[in-house]
Amino acid sequence: MDPATFRRHGHELVDWIAEYLEHPERYPVLSRVRPGEIASALPRHAPEAGEPFDAIMADFERVLVPGLTHWNHPGFFAYFAITGSAPGVLADFLSAALNQQAMLWRTSPAATELEEVTLAWLRRLIGLPEAFEGVIYDTASIASMHALVAAREAAIPGVRAKGLAGRPDVPRIRVYCSEQAHSSIDKAVIAIGLGHESLRKIAVDDAYRMRVDALDAAIAEDRADLWLPIAVVATVGTTSTTSVDPVAAIADVCEREQLWLHVDAAYAGVAAMLPSHAHILDGADRADSLVVNPHKWLFTPFDLSAFYCRRMDMIRAAFALTPDYLMTAEAGQVKNLMDTGVQLGRRFRALKLWMILRSYGAQTIRQHLSAHIQLAQQLAGWIDAHPDFERLAPVPFSVVCFRWKPAGRTLSDEALDAANQRLNDAVNQTGEVFISPTKLRGRVALRVAIGHIRTTEQHVRRVWDLLQTHAHAS
Ligand SMILES: *Cc1c(COP(=O)(O)O)cnc(C)c1O
Repeated sequence: MDPATFRRHGHELVDWIAEYLEHPERYPVLSRVRPGEIASALPRHAPEAGEPFDAIMADFERVLVPGLTHWNHPGFFAYFAITGSAPGVLADFLSAALNQQAMLWRTSPAATELEEVTLAWLRRLIGLPEAFEGVIYDTASIASMHALVAAREAAIPGVRAKGLAGRPDVPRIRVYCSEQAHSSIDKAVIAIGLGHESLRKIAVDDAYRMRVDALDAAIAEDRADLWLPIAVVATVGTTSTTSVDPVAAIADVCEREQLWLHVDAAYAGVAAMLPSHAHILDGADRADSLVVNPHKWLFTPFDLSAFYCRRMDMIRAAFALTPDYLMTAEAGQVKNLMDTGVQLGRRFRALKLWMILRSYGAQTIRQHLSAHIQLAQQLAGWIDAHPDFERLAPVPFSVVCFRWKPAGRTLSDEALDAANQRLNDAVNQTGEVFISPTKLRGRVALRVAIGHIRTTEQHVRRVWDLLQTHAHAS
């Protein structure tokens, strides 16, 4: 592509993106394509001869756009609503052009040092102490996996060299999390060779928070049965209900039992920027590691996960090694990010966090976060006031869990589950909103997650109106 053509398509693309960010509502938020439809609309073979960019863009619009689910739509209330904000989009554009690969300090001093600086900014914003060193990974799943690798390194002598298999000196290992913890913790224990049975799920209280008495009992029972407990994962903002585990009490247990404490604050951690919510990380200063996802509730285009660790030396002990072809003169004086995890190459993700934090400023970010929390409170109030709806969990942040349960009619649990699933699907079919259900205490729960930067009261009213209208119909 010659420079003139690049300029022309570049400008066209910026116009397309600007239009898209301004009017995402022109598309149904949840894609309406059927499975296989996109793949079958595309050729089986890559072209032998290059094609003009206009033709490629035309197919992008014709074939791919209908197959997009619009995470940047203000009616997106499923999973966790996120935002690929304009400054973040520009930063990723620039990052692609620069094509930095920050495995070594010298392969991108700017990416290496900007990562350190922006993660220190974010750390101070959420009130974590200086002792936490940060590193950027792609996702919280990978961050939590690294946390458990560090826990394994700290607890099991020689694990880096000898592994775990065939070692009579290593007992069966235990990691603890609550029943409401994210599935990435399951995948982490599977991936690092502990086995899924090493993960013991602790019961929760009425508000879906880990019960510390149950944690204590489980550890005592496991020790008596000669398991080796190594770590506890506490969640600040669980995925179904955004409940907050009692981190300080769990930190006490971990100190007493000498266990690694990892805090999974993937979604809710950024709320600690608000004076009203700073307490959610009480006790996290005593954790060994913590993950928070700017790509969840900090308006950062996917993907960027911030991992903080008080004992990053354990991550380095697990992974640092320098092959002959990566030796550098600066060794020992600089941080080589390839030492801080599994992956060698890493892209320039810090650029978008830097541009977002500067472009919005902490004050505006706080305003957006508290607006989302207020909208969720409003919705919770409407649900509580309605005789045919029932709220199913407290609302500590911006996610509301509830179900349709008509007053004066007795329906079985199964009938209520089916009706709520139908209601969920019916509002999604309108194309105006997208919600995704969960299960609480075994029953289907509707769930509205507010988190897109352009979601306003009007959008929240709309999802609530649609729910009431379609509840009548079912
Ligand atoms: C979303 C979420 C994750 C997983 O996030 P990824 O970055 O997609 O891996 C983990 N834990 C919690 C609590 C989450 O909400």
